[in-house]
Amino acid sequence: MKVLKFGGTSVGSSKNINNVINILVDYSKTDTIACVVSAVGGITDKLLLAGKQAQNKEEAFLETFEGIKERHFNIIKELNPDNHTAILEFVEDKLKSLKSLLEGIYLINELSPKTSDKLVSFGELLSSFIIAETMKNRSLSADVKNSQELIVTNSNFTKAEVDYTVTNTNIREYFKSANQKITILPGFISKSKLGEITTLGRGGSDFTAAIIAAALHVEQLEIWTDVSGMFTTNPKLVKQAYPIDKISYQEAMELSHFGAKVLYPPTVQPVLSLQIPIHIKNTLEPNAVGTIISNEGTTSSSPVKGISNISNIALLTLEGTGMVGIPGFSKRLFETLSQEKINVIMITQASSEHSICLGIEDKEAATAKTAIDTAFENEIALGKIEPIIVETGLSIIALVGDSMKNHQGISGKMFSTLGKNNINIRAIAQGASEKNITAVINEKDVKKALNTLHEQFFESKTKQINVFITGVGNVGERLVEQIKQQKKYLKDNLKIKLRVAGLSNSRHMIFNEDGIDLKNWKEQLAQGEKASLQGFFENTKALNLRNSIFVDVTANANVADLYAQYLKESIGIVACNKIACSSEFKNYKNLKQLSLKYNAPFLFETNVGAGLPVIDTLNNLIASGDKVNSIQAVLSGSLNFVFNNFTDKTKFYDVVKQAGAEGYTEPDPRIDLSGVDVARKILILARESGVKMNLEDIENTSFLSEAGLKSDSVDDFYDTLIADEAHYQSLYASAKANNCQLKYVAKFDNGKASVSLQEIPEGHPFYNLEGSDNIVMFYTERYAKQPMIIKGAGAGAEVTASGLFADIIRLGND
Ligand code: ADP
Ligand code: ASP
Ligand code: MG
Repeated sequence: MKVLKFGGTSVGSSKNINNVINILVDYSKTDTIACVVSAVGGITDKLLLAGKQAQNKEEAFLETFEGIKERHFNIIKELNPDNHTAILEFVEDKLKSLKSLLEGIYLINELSPKTSDKLVSFGELLSSFIIAETMKNRSLSADVKNSQELIVTNSNFTKAEVDYTVTNTNIREYFKSANQKITILPGFISKSKLGEITTLGRGGSDFTAAIIAAALHVEQLEIWTDVSGMFTTNPKLVKQAYPIDKISYQEAMELSHFGAKVLYPPTVQPVLSLQIPIHIKNTLEPNAVGTIISNEGTTSSSPVKGISNISNIALLTLEGTGMVGIPGFSKRLFETLSQEKINVIMITQASSEHSICLGIEDKEAATAKTAIDTAFENEIALGKIEPIIVETGLSIIALVGDSMKNHQGISGKMFSTLGKNNINIRAIAQGASEKNITAVINEKDVKKALNTLHEQFFESKTKQINVFITGVGNVGERLVEQIKQQKKYLKDNLKIKLRVAGLSNSRHMIFNEDGIDLKNWKEQLAQGEKASLQGFFENTKALNLRNSIFVDVTANANVADLYAQYLKESIGIVACNKIACSSEFKNYKNLKQLSLKYNAPFLFETNVGAGLPVIDTLNNLIASGDKVNSIQAVLSGSLNFVFNNFTDKTKFYDVVKQAGAEGYTEPDPRIDLSGVDVARKILILARESGVKMNLEDIENTSFLSEAGLKSDSVDDFYDTLIADEAHYQSLYASAKANNCQLKYVAKFDNGKASVSLQEIPEGHPFYNLEGSDNIVMFYTERYAKQPMIIKGAGAGAEVTASGLFADIIRLGND
């Protein structure tokens, strides 16, 4: 004898029912079968909806009823195209009774738990009948048996308790004399000793099957559902979740108690004492191995077996110094809740006994508050305890595993992982058996929490990074292309899963939490919603993805102003925009502190020397205990280009124009030629060396003509370059006469910084600097005589993009 149960989706369409029949036919070749079925998927919810509508005097209940009717009729006709008259007649008759019941509810305006059970019982009665009759139509040896005639309960409507003595006898007696090979039984429904219709609780068809399996002492119970087993976590919320091949009864019970809907929690009870294994299988993929729940040892080495979650939780907190020493306090509290039939999902109590915290279902919070405040009226009036505090909109997440108790540091890892992602924990509980660790968090953080915990405990070494890029001009575009090209390499070699979850230029923005398809990102972006800086932030925040990074590829001050907001949400920043780090010291310092406080990295390697590892090297020197004495550097790719091309045979104006055309200068060339850009860079290096400094502290000796300095528009400025050619030629002539090259040099020495055009003699490391190259020399305590030199291309879209990319990868390796 075999006992199988098929859930709502498995019997949710004619196609799926045909799958079920095929499985049953196959099994019946070697065995007799008891097959428990749920209502057609979604029908129990629809029945309850119709009941609520009728109770609220909403005519819409009729429409809902018609929907239920049509769904069943379609299934019947599709399954039995030629011979459905008899089945339709029976079902029509049943539906008449259902309609009368709904009309009754409508008339009297009332839906008691007793009536509710009667109402939902139609779901399983119909599905079991339809399936059995279809099989008979196909000349299979099948019949339906109403489980209400077998399973006897008390009158605890909506979640009745089973009388096993009577029930077991009924089941054994029935199957002793049953002649058909396949018996179809409705799950979930039962009858009280008084003959009233009862149910076993939502999801209770699993339980029905377990009761039958235990009564008949079968070798195995099979639960067929719409996923390939019990997963490491809810597969609807975490894509990377995978089926667990073997799991203990205890673990399965804990996971289902804390929300793994795939198994109704009481299901384990009847089969546990008889050691009947439960095999969870997928109707839609019958060949998948599924999950075996038994006492057999596990195959996985991880102490954490699964992670589950329950939504719609309320936290009740009872506090007060008077709680210490009130005899039987907890007893009274739990009795009060039990009288109201309120199920307590988790409990935490501080050892001082000053407060006790309970997790219950949201919908019961109001009843619980009234009941508890009334029960402790006297103590509250005397000021011994406070009225109960209720917080809603919460969720419970739980890590489950039998052997967690033998491993140190799991809860530490759990909480630090959550903390790193800015997930606030409202309460924590750990069962004394240490089979679970639970935490109460905000509902909005559940998906992020499950994903980040799953990554931590089940996808060891891989790390998902979600980037949100603003500014896809020259550099940004190269960055997106580089990410596209390197994605597979990063996954295979560095175990970093990188996805671009948001993109914006000044006109449009797009988001996709599963990662934007980079094949045609430009077309998608062109059709995106209207861009706004605040909107980009709000969307990034709302997606609430783990390891989120905002990448600023603009030169826009308004973008830099938003960094603090991002960091406060634990969203990391990678920027080539220099404005934030060269702004007021107070602001720079504040961003650094926010980065530490919210555990959100703030990286800006490309602020100096484009892709060259200048800041990283400096940070490493300092972190390893070195001290910077002085820095000398040529940091402007654009000025280098200008002075490498400017001779007595060229015109200064032409060279500057060419630099602009080749993308070496800012659109406003004055930012480069005035030395401001270089000043910002040396300022950032000085600050990263540990010195408190502002832009105005940097001595800037300009080489521009007086008129050039005073010009107040870009066009005016270009005019002065033409007019003052002689001034610029004299700079060149002097250098040539001294056998020197002109270089724009930044210096930091003894706490002071300066930028100026200098004549560099032959033999000096700066003398041969070509094209747009940069060079930085760090003189430190360890590099006292020979400086640490970093030299290479210091401008250009490709290298700047690769510098940004390197910062992003650095976060992945954290
Ligand atoms: P059935 O109708 O077959 O009884 P349920 O909807 O009751 O199916 O349970 C299966 C569903 O449980 C899955 O589709 C999945 O969304 C959900 N689920 C939640 N947590 C888990 C988990 N850890 N493993 C598998 N499924 C889970
Ligand atoms: N049909 C019932 C429900 O939806 C029982 C079940 O499917 O297990 O809760
Ligand atoms: Mg179920």
